[in-house]
Formats: sequence, structure tokens, C-alpha cells
Amino acid sequence: MSKLRLAVVGAGPAGIYASDLILKAERDFEVSIDLFDLLPTPYGLVRYGVAPDHPRIKGIIRALYEVLDRGDIRFFGNVEYGKDITLEDLKNHYNAVIFATGAIKDADLKIPGIELDGSYGAADFVNWYDAHPDFPLEWPLNAKEIAVIGNGNVALDVARILIKRPDDLLSTEIPDHIYQALKKSPVTDVHVFGRRGPAQVKFSPLELREALHVQGVQSIVYDEDFQYDEGSQEAIDTNNQVKVMVKTLEDLRANPQEKEDRRLHLHFFSTPVEVLGEDGKVVGLKVERTELDGKGGVKPTGEFREFPVQAVYRAVGYFGSELTQIPFDSKHGVIRNDEGRVLDDSGHHIPGLYATGWIKRGPIGLIGHTKADAIETIGHLMEDQGTWWQPAAADEAAIVKTLDDRGIRYIRWDHWLNIDKAERALGEPQGRERVKLFNREEMISIGRD
Ligand SMILES: Cc1cc2nc3c(=O)[nH]c(=O)nc-3n(C[C@H](O)[C@H](O)[C@H](O)COP(=O)(O)OP(=O)(O)OC[C@H]3O[C@@H](n4cnc5c(N)ncnc54)[C@H](O)[C@@H]3O)c2cc1C
Repeated sequence: MSKLRLAVVGAGPAGIYASDLILKAERDFEVSIDLFDLLPTPYGLVRYGVAPDHPRIKGIIRALYEVLDRGDIRFFGNVEYGKDITLEDLKNHYNAVIFATGAIKDADLKIPGIELDGSYGAADFVNWYDAHPDFPLEWPLNAKEIAVIGNGNVALDVARILIKRPDDLLSTEIPDHIYQALKKSPVTDVHVFGRRGPAQVKFSPLELREALHVQGVQSIVYDEDFQYDEGSQEAIDTNNQVKVMVKTLEDLRANPQEKEDRRLHLHFFSTPVEVLGEDGKVVGLKVERTELDGKGGVKPTGEFREFPVQAVYRAVGYFGSELTQIPFDSKHGVIRNDEGRVLDDSGHHIPGLYATGWIKRGPIGLIGHTKADAIETIGHLMEDQGTWWQPAAADEAAIVKTLDDRGIRYIRWDHWLNIDKAERALGEPQGRERVKLFNREEMISIGRD
């Protein structure tokens, strides 16, 4: 074998890192990579997940850009696996495929009332404010009081974007319709609910500190929510991140902030048990108080409270989507795999098939973690050289012909650079790095014409 023709499906960080790492790996064969994404844009959740007011994190795009701009990875955006290309196509054109399709949907939260009007998934809201081209342009922002369920960074992102003064988002890449909708929002209070305590939150220290110091917003914590047991103390003593976050929360408890018209409340030891409704619409959230069980976990107390809110956002995790003809673990929302090797029903590796990133490991962890994933997956891919597919049409021109014959308006790297340029041009008069385009057809036309 003198050459590996590799397809990578998903141009988020996991797909880009895997492509980059295999090109840089020590090996005795050549590599040629085609990177597909259903979106006309690269970068996955760095573009459509990371919040617009996190320019430092969005800056990771620069490093990903440099990988793709080298010219040794061919990008094919606007090509969806399962619709535009099939597993048969991949077997016909490549020696192997790595799926790096991430996650885009919300995990379920099975409590009564979750289907009410005014109850939303965080992922849908994120897709809206990050201007994902496949999601509606309108978002109903008519609640004064809002509950956000979850104690991870996505819950903080959602709460922060909901409560932040819209003018403070004006320097970011958000398109005007998003700014205008946020500007009309009557919100005064956002309540974030976590099942466990300050020593068990899943935030990261920087995100927590940022959320508690939003300009024009008073952050509030409650004395009753500060309990620690032996398990908590152990977490504080052994995990520096936990220690820093507990200190941040204790500092706020000891030093209440000045009154403001907009408030962010953090509630701990509160398990949501029901979204309350009237005439089909959200009017409140019922929570059950919990208490520590001695080991850092919690148990229910049988004491309930109701909070009047007109909207509920559940930020209880993302969930991967099943891909046609690829074994899926529907409990965990991942491709069934062992260290990136895709497994059949009986647990044997299916030759040629690999997974990396969130669709391999589940939707947890930061962008940097997808690098470690990629190292593991490409390691196995290289070890398995003897089992790769023997494609009939391995020529690099063949896949292009297949896409052209099907009339697929794929977005090459130079096409994406046209879209990128157009976004920068939109931002320039306002001194912004870019303003995002959000209409798929417009993006494709700008890219290809
Ligand atoms: C709201 C939110 C905020 C976040 N904020 C941060 C942060 O501040 N800092 C940080 O480090 N991490 C953050 N993360 C985590 C980070 O985004 C992930 O760790 C990372 O993006 C996962 O990379 P991935 O490549 O596995 O998946 P993704 O980034 O989801 O990329 C998957 C790609 O696959 C494509 N795809 C899916 N299905 C198909 C298909 N059938 N055919 C073709 N293409 C397909 C998708 O369009 C997408 O481009 C955040 C995540 C979320 C959800």
C-alpha cells in the first residue's frame, strides 16, 4: 500500500485535528484526505456552538484555518453523508473513513410539561444565536423570568446570552436580526438550577467568573444553597478547578452585588421535576430540593418549590445523531466504537470505519480534548493498514466527478474563502471582525460564484 485515500466526515475540530495529525504522523505511505461537511462552512461547533462573546475561544478558528489553508486537505462543504454521499460511495473512493460528526441536538429531559410552549432546548437556542443556517431565524424572546436547567458551561452560555445587555454583543459576529430580537427581550431574571451543590458544578472557573460579572447584571446566590459534605471537601481539596469555583461562589455569597434591573440567580440543590403550564404555555418550574448524601452526591428531600417563569431552557447536554448504515449506541448518542474503531453488533471492528471527537466519546469536553481523541483514532487506523478497503475509484478526480454528476453544489476551500471574505466585508464598516451570513443558499451562491 503506497497511498491512503482517507475520507473524513465532519469538519469540526475533531475532523480537522484528525486530518492534520495523520498528515504529520510518521508513516511509510502517502496520505490524501477529503474532508466533508454537511454545512457550507468548516469548524463545526467552534462556529455554531461557542458563544459569540467568546472571541478568545472563537480564535481557535485561526489555528484550524491554517491547517485547511495549507492545501493538503481537500474541503467539500455542503455535502451530507447519508444524503449526498453514501457508505457505498466512500468504499468506492477511499481506503477508510473517519466519522467526526459531533452533536447538534439536545439530550432529552423527561419531566412533565417539558413539551409546553415556552420550553426550549439549549442547543436550539445556541443554533439560533450562532446563526446556524438550518435553523429558524426567529426566536421567541417574550419571557420576563426564565429558568435554565443545568450546571455546565452551555447552561452558563445560554443564561449569559439571555440576560446580557444586547448592546454588549454588538461588537461580535452576530447578524442584525439576532441583535434586534435580543434587544426586544423583556427579560429581567434568569434562574439557573443545578441538582447538586457548589462543589459539584460542571462549569469551568473562567466561564463561571465571567457569568457572575456581566455588565448591568446583578448575580445572586442564596445562603441555603451552600452545603458541603465529606465528598465535597475531598473534591475541593483535590481538584483545583473545584476549589476556585467554590471560592468564586463563596466570594459572591459574602459580597452581594449592587442592585441592577437584570438579575442572574444561581440555585443549587434543586432538581427540576415539572414544567408548570397554563393554556399550553409555561408559567413556572417546580423543583425538588436535594441534600448531600455524604459522598458528594445528592438525595431528594421531598420539599418542593415553584418558581414563576415564562420560559424554560434545558441545558442538560447535547446528543449525537445516528448516521445511515453506521452502528449507533442510542443510549449514549455515539457511534459504537472501541477507541475509535467502529464496532458491529458482536463487538468486532468493521474494517475501514473509524470515529473521533464528540460522536466517538460523547458530547463532553473542550475543543482541545478532541486532539487526544484524534491521536488515538488515527493510531488505530494506521495500525490497521492490512484491513483497509480496496477502492475501485481511488483517483482524486473520481469523487469530484461523482459529486458533479449528482449536481451537488459542494463548497471547496476557495469557495469558503469567498464566504469568509463576504462576512469580513459585512463587519468592516462597523469595526467588527465579521458579521455572519446565515442563509445557506446565499452562502453557497457567494462561495461558488
Ligand atoms: C454551546 C456550546 C459551547 C461550547 N463552548 C466551548 C468553549 O467555550 N470552549 C471549548 O473548548 N469548547 C466549547 N464547546 C465544545 C466544543 O465545541 C466541542 O468540544 C467540539 O466542537 C467537538 O468537536 P467535534 O469535531 O467532535 O464536533 P463538532 O464541532 O460538532 O463538528 C462536527 C461536524 O460534523 C458535521 N456533520 C454532522 N453530521 C454530518 C453528516 N451527516 N455529513 C457531513 N457532516 C456532518 C457538522 O456539520 C459539524 O460541522 C462548546 C460546545 C457547545 C455545544
